[in-house]
Amino acid sequence: MEERANSEGRIASRLAAIRIVVVEPSHPGNIGGVARAMKTMGLGDLALVRPKRFPDPQAQWRAASAVDVLDAVRVFDCLDDAVADCGVVAGTSARSRRIPWPTATAAGFAAQMASAGLGGRPMAILFGREASGLTNDELQRCNWHVVIPANPAYSSLNLAMAAQVVCYELRQALLAASAAEPAPAPAAAQEWDRPLASAAQMAGLYGQLERVLVAIEFQTANTPHQAITRLRRLFGRLGVDETEVAILRGILTHVERALAK
Ligand code: SAH
Repeated sequence: MEERANSEGRIASRLAAIRIVVVEPSHPGNIGGVARAMKTMGLGDLALVRPKRFPDPQAQWRAASAVDVLDAVRVFDCLDDAVADCGVVAGTSARSRRIPWPTATAAGFAAQMASAGLGGRPMAILFGREASGLTNDELQRCNWHVVIPANPAYSSLNLAMAAQVVCYELRQALLAASAAEPAPAPAAAQEWDRPLASAAQMAGLYGQLERVLVAIEFQTANTPHQAITRLRRLFGRLGVDETEVAILRGILTHVERALAK
């Protein structure tokens, strides 16, 4: 019993650093279901992007004893704001997309996050609309795509049930990692001399990069964002830190100045 309380204490702060972000949910019942799924696994940070109906009695009803998670919900007008302070951003999807992207199963992703740590920033896990999931553009904002390996003939889970599976896997992976570590957790893998760049800092980099690519005629202002998509994938794979972003932006600023001369 005491053993269990100890490991719970050890993983609680790591679970608290995980934000679940639901993009444009249509049914308030699902929002309540996600809140309940989160609380049963020890998570509490829920963000909604443009929910159709919220707050709503159906959300309260489905949340059961997780109304505290609903009370603390933050609602955003745009996805970028919901993840601005996050380091790792993962997008869940039942389907594979046109451009291959770093992809993991829910269990594999959870194990990786539990052993590698989050670089001192919150992590966001995105869930999509009931009818259409996440858009390609939203998925391209993610470092990782996470898939629940389901029946190939029908792989689309209900939104709240998908959230339950992912939250469960995160909890199991953190418990397993905490059991394997001598207490207190040394977190060697988390040590890095600089914090991971936030999603907002990465967005600033991509914006400037796009302007410079147009200015040097590497791409024209109206070409589709092919190169940027590939560069997002590259940087997302690397896990860039704040200083590295500052250096890249400094280089780009010098390019802009040189062009202005
Ligand atoms: N019809 C949509 C599925 C929406 S289900 C589509 O084809 O994309 C609502 C959300 O639940 C999805 O956006 C995703 O976040 C999550 N989800 C459902 N099934 C999943 C699975 N097998 N793996 C990962 N996420 C899943």
